[in-house]
Amino acid sequence: MKIHNTLSKQKEEFVPLVEGSVSIYVCGPTVYNLIHIGNARPMVFFDTVRRYLLYKGYEVNYVSNFTDVDDKIIKKANGEGVDSAVISERYIAECRRDMASLNVMEATTHPKATEEIGGMIEMISTLIDKGFAYRAQDGTVYYRTRKFPYYGKLSHKNLDDLRSGNRSILVTGEEQKEDPLDFVLWKPKKEGEPSWTSPWCDGRPGWHIECSVMSRKYLGEQIDIHGGGEDLIFPHHENEIAQSEAASGKEFARYWMHNAFLNIENHKMSKSAGNFFTVRDILEKFEGRVLRLFLLSAHYRSPLNFSDELMNAAKSSLERILNCAENLAYLSGKAGEAGLTQEEEELLKQSWSYRENFEKAMDDDFNTADALAAIYDLVRFINSHVTETSSATFVSELRGELGSLTDVLGLDLSARNAAGNAEEDAKIEAMIAERQAARKARDFARADAVRDELAAMGIQLEDTREGVKWKRV
Ligand code: AMP
Ligand code: ZN
Repeated sequence: MKIHNTLSKQKEEFVPLVEGSVSIYVCGPTVYNLIHIGNARPMVFFDTVRRYLLYKGYEVNYVSNFTDVDDKIIKKANGEGVDSAVISERYIAECRRDMASLNVMEATTHPKATEEIGGMIEMISTLIDKGFAYRAQDGTVYYRTRKFPYYGKLSHKNLDDLRSGNRSILVTGEEQKEDPLDFVLWKPKKEGEPSWTSPWCDGRPGWHIECSVMSRKYLGEQIDIHGGGEDLIFPHHENEIAQSEAASGKEFARYWMHNAFLNIENHKMSKSAGNFFTVRDILEKFEGRVLRLFLLSAHYRSPLNFSDELMNAAKSSLERILNCAENLAYLSGKAGEAGLTQEEEELLKQSWSYRENFEKAMDDDFNTADALAAIYDLVRFINSHVTETSSATFVSELRGELGSLTDVLGLDLSARNAAGNAEEDAKIEAMIAERQAARKARDFARADAVRDELAAMGIQLEDTREGVKWKRV
């Protein structure tokens, strides 16, 4: 299996650190708003990487964080006059709901930055002890970038080029840096911001340190795969490498994988540019599995342009697969003789070529576009060879074949109505979790609003000693 490694800019044979098991860390969202479908691209793609590794028989330890302390969260909390935990808990619940709609598996661990401050203080102390970081007069702790000899190895940037291109980096408040390239590990608290006590000053961590710390805690000092969108290569991932490798003295991640952007009219979809659709917007018009199929329809390192036309194309592709699956389900109820005929035996052998093509595509740096093409070919094959007179074994073998390949891509083939129910159940569970989180954070207005929203969907809640129970009324 080959993986394109941003470190070498080449496809490399994948060899995990420990035979048979893979550790993956994927940078998660900053939780201050509903996620947009650009944010959903890495979620769906890396979930597919995970599913394929599971299919290949690996054990997978998958960690993805929620960044729940950040300027944007604080700004929104101040705007609403609530604690920043109210905002982050609300959007963590919303994000989980969107992930469930997109059939993204729950991470093995989903750490939150605010619950890992102790580990961050510990790693920053190590970096100071080793001379890789220093405390400025105002209590800010900076990373001494020039001290780390491999700085720039991921983004393929040269320190001196960075320096000349970044003179303006010395912005107000950062005059105390030894070098403009130094970056913040810990910053002093400001009025109205969440803060923690530390040996340097009361304050909060910089963004980069959280991923180094959470990945070490849940996956160890060395991991197999680190992923995220390509905008994270510099400075975020470059800084993560500088922190983790200076602290441990070991190579941090073996394979760095980055997805290209989801664009609209060739521009990156982003909150700041205002050219975005939330996952929620899209789910009003399309099923989650249509959006998932659309996101996997291009190779992850190619930019993907969002358009209604492509979404409709994804919808018809999904229809074709679902029609085939429904037909197989119908025929398996009617199929005659259990045993395979000679002709069917031959045909089954032929049908294995689609699985081979599928695996070849996925082994080649997770080419989901070609993997989907192999599935469409299998669908065509099934449609032309399975009939009312096919044997039970023939029908069930091909049904298994289609089910197993679509499963790797996380495309749920349950019948349309049942799928609606399964999706709705996941949505209801997530909304209940959101209501609980809001109550915990004493945001009763939000808790009541979610309860009302559930009531409008015909869902009645009952608070019991074992937790919240719900039923459709
Ligand atoms: P953020 O909350 O902005 O830190 O983003 C969370 C994840 O979504 C990161 O891995 C980003 O690289 C990724 N991301 C953000 N915008 C896009 C986009 N338009 N296309 C693909 N990935 C994106
Ligand atoms: Zn990160």
